[in-house]
Amino acid sequence: MLADPGALDRPARGRLLAGAPIAADLRAEVRAAVEAFRGRHGYTPALAALVLGRSEPFARYLQQILRACASVGLEGREVHVEGRVSAARVRAELCRLNADPHVAGIIVQQPLPRGLSPRVVTETLDPAKDVDGLTPLNTGLVTLGYGGFAPATAEATLEILRRSGVSLEGLHAVIVGRSHVVGRPVAQLLLREHCTVTICHRRTRELVSHTRQADVLVVAAGAPGLVTGEMLKPGAVVVDVGTSVIDGRIVGDVESESAARVAAAITPVPGGVGPVTNAVLMQHVIRAAEVQARASRRAATP
Ligand code: NAP
Repeated sequence: MLADPGALDRPARGRLLAGAPIAADLRAEVRAAVEAFRGRHGYTPALAALVLGRSEPFARYLQQILRACASVGLEGREVHVEGRVSAARVRAELCRLNADPHVAGIIVQQPLPRGLSPRVVTETLDPAKDVDGLTPLNTGLVTLGYGGFAPATAEATLEILRRSGVSLEGLHAVIVGRSHVVGRPVAQLLLREHCTVTICHRRTRELVSHTRQADVLVVAAGAPGLVTGEMLKPGAVVVDVGTSVIDGRIVGDVESESAARVAAAITPVPGGVGPVTNAVLMQHVIRAAEVQARASRRAATP
């Protein structure tokens, strides 16, 4: 399962799968790609973030994204819709960004303000610029294995596993959570890697009977402490996607102390999936820029 199989027999604590070094490698790759893109096309592609009213958590996330853009040489652009956030105004901003040739990728504040249907976004956002995999076209392409953009968090989960030397083929992967942004796309990506996949959710009976079978366990429930060490198969690799704030501290869904005594490897929270997600988003932006530049060159060729 792991590149170092002896790790499974050691009584020591599980290996920590820190996100920072993986994110740093990804950012270095993106930085080189952005530099090459600028040399070929003469402009810096932008990631636009559509901010809808005021949301403290999104504002914090946005600062991280803008820093990530700066660190890889991409332009990070904030676009604010102030006051009453109507469907018509969101559509109008998205259409404007869709049409801007320098904007390669667009992300939209999540969760959306109350009363705004997600369909306003999924039906307007150009799938070519949908770098966080929200649109039905990208969901379909990812499901069919035809490329497309998977949600960055889902892909970050896979990047962590791959770049930590976990050989996935044939493993039983269990995912706790079936959301469209994490659980389901992670399941698709793990299937593509030839895992046997089980998806659990709130109505799953005897969650522990499933988690104990997992060679790879991905927990994306938003339920702090949901998974404890005794719910794990010894030697499992655990990716804790959950992030909740308790008493001002960010915690995951896995009780890290007990889990680290049973697992072969586990991602920390914070410092695991989060940083890799931001780096994957940057990777998606430069990928989108390349595809769009090729398409506009083809369109301009008589
Ligand atoms: P979500 O839309 O609320 O979905 C949560 C999923 O977990 C649902 O499918 C739910 O089941 C399942 N679930 C919740 N409690 C459960 C329980 N006690 N037993 C079994 N299943 C349970 O959340 P999300 O957007 O997928 O996010 C999940 C977590 O990941 C959150 O903590 C979020 O903050 C975090 N997250 C982190 C990143 C990152 O970059 N690190 C990015 C995105 C999200 P039902 O479908 O039956 O309700």
